[in-house]
Amino acid sequence: MSIITAAGVIMLAAAAYIKGSLNKSGAVTAVLVAMMIGAAFDLFGLLVLALFFITSSVLGKWLDKKLPADETGEKGNCRDWAQVMANGGWPAVAAILFLLTSDPAWVIAFSAGFAAAASDTWASEFGRLSRQKPVDLLRLKRVEKGRSGAVSLPGTAGAAGGAAAVAAGAVLFSGFTGNLLTWEQAVLIGAAGFTGQLIDTIAGGTVQTLYQCQRCGIKTERKSHCGLAVKKIRGVSWISNDAVNHLCTLSAVLIGYSASRLFM
Ligand SMILES: [Zn+2]
Repeated sequence: MSIITAAGVIMLAAAAYIKGSLNKSGAVTAVLVAMMIGAAFDLFGLLVLALFFITSSVLGKWLDKKLPADETGEKGNCRDWAQVMANGGWPAVAAILFLLTSDPAWVIAFSAGFAAAASDTWASEFGRLSRQKPVDLLRLKRVEKGRSGAVSLPGTAGAAGGAAAVAAGAVLFSGFTGNLLTWEQAVLIGAAGFTGQLIDTIAGGTVQTLYQCQRCGIKTERKSHCGLAVKKIRGVSWISNDAVNHLCTLSAVLIGYSASRLFM
């Protein structure tokens, strides 16, 4: 990775901090993750990362202006270090493993990790556009907008779109490296990303903690509401939305790696 590329990474993180897409811990973590990815994949890896991050942030900001604020999610659009690690940590691990082994399956795994992160983020953002309440995937009943584990038509289209965008981007950006990706590999990357997102949805509706406000009764992922501590009504207490997002990207990285070794 050249000094100019490294400076570009720092400038992009600073811009994201100023724009409010990353807080201070998020910006520092993003630079570290990007440096690992840049060390392994240079411009290819950084462009895949940027494709995920820029589309997700722009989509979130645009919908924030268009739609009322979401009261039920755990965190807003300003990503902290834990969210950066949940989205980019496992792809960064895949990048390091590529650096150590030169196994091209890690290129697929890396791209699949960001395809999953984009799939998950685009699903939540596009889901906000749904006119109908989403359907809880396992219980098949309508629940409040923004609830983990629930799906809607616009959200599912967004999930497919996010995975497809990163998969296509990975093939195009691979022109910058010696390891040119094929469109067959793009299908694998997209499918692994979408599957990771589906695993995220199932975990979000089962093991992820869901709380209820003791005053107004709203079901939320936040730890307090109406100025009061909330009561846990579902899930395992340490499994937050961040933990489920780790599962999303990790499973896509593992599926991408194994499928690549098996079929490519
Ligand atoms: Zn409340």
